[in-house]
Formats: sequence, structure tokens, C-alpha cells
Amino acid sequence: MPALAGRHVQMNGAVMGKIGRNSPCPCGSGKKYKRCCEKKEAQMRASQIPPGRFRYEAGSYGGPGRGYMPSILGYKEVGSDSWAEHLCLVKTDAVFEDHEAATSTAEGHITAARQAQIDAGGSPQEFALSLRHEGYKSVSDSRIVQTEA
Ligand SMILES: [Zn+2]
Repeated sequence: MPALAGRHVQMNGAVMGKIGRNSPCPCGSGKKYKRCCEKKEAQMRASQIPPGRFRYEAGSYGGPGRGYMPSILGYKEVGSDSWAEHLCLVKTDAVFEDHEAATSTAEGHITAARQAQIDAGGSPQEFALSLRHEGYKSVSDSRIVQTEA
């Protein structure tokens, strides 16, 4: 499984949250915390999809001869650093000759769905909804060719 970038940022944010807003910033800038890193952390949090609960990987679905469809594998956090596959989405109306084209298409759709989610205030349902609009359907069978992270 790929490394989970972002988890540590989240933890640092929690620790930093205990600093008084008018105290000198712990980064050593000499400014008050509220005028320095507090702002940066808020921006960082806003750019993240709900803290480490779900993550999505682009892949392709299919095989030689029948073509490859863009697919997205969703993982749910089930414990500390423990992830379980909870959904597999396939865009059944797009078939590519090679799996890389299918994968990069899926990557683009994940990025767009994340943006839709951020625009909607972070609701995870919005993420799934955006992919459904794009033509992705849940499949139970996961013969997925995964990308190397
Ligand atoms: Zn600072």
C-alpha cells in the first residue's frame, strides 16, 4: 500500500492547536501564532479531504482484447494504519486501448471529485456523487490493475 502522505501533517496540526493564538509562533518567525502558522495550518486543513478516513486510487478495469475502463478503488480506514477496500468504481462508458490511458483518466476524475467535495464543504457524499455523475458504477468484482504509487 502506498505511503499515506498527509497523516503526519494532520497530527502536527492537532498539536499546534494547543498553542495560544497570541503566543509567539513556534516556528520562530517572531510573529504571533494567529498571524503566522495558524493561518497556514487552516489553509492546509481546508485543502485536505476528510482527515485520513477514506482514500482513493486510480486504476484500470479490463484486460487485453476487451480494453480498459477507468476505475477507482476506495479504501476506508478501519484502524490505525489499517485500510480496507470498501468500494470499486468503474466508468463503464469509456474503454481505452491501454491501461495507462484508463488510469490517468480515472486520476483526473478523482481530482475533479475532490474539488467538488471541497466546494461542497467537504462532504464525502459529494465525492461519490461527482464520480457517479461522471459515469462510474460500483462493481463487486475487483479485477483491478492498480497503479504503482
Ligand atoms: Zn509560524
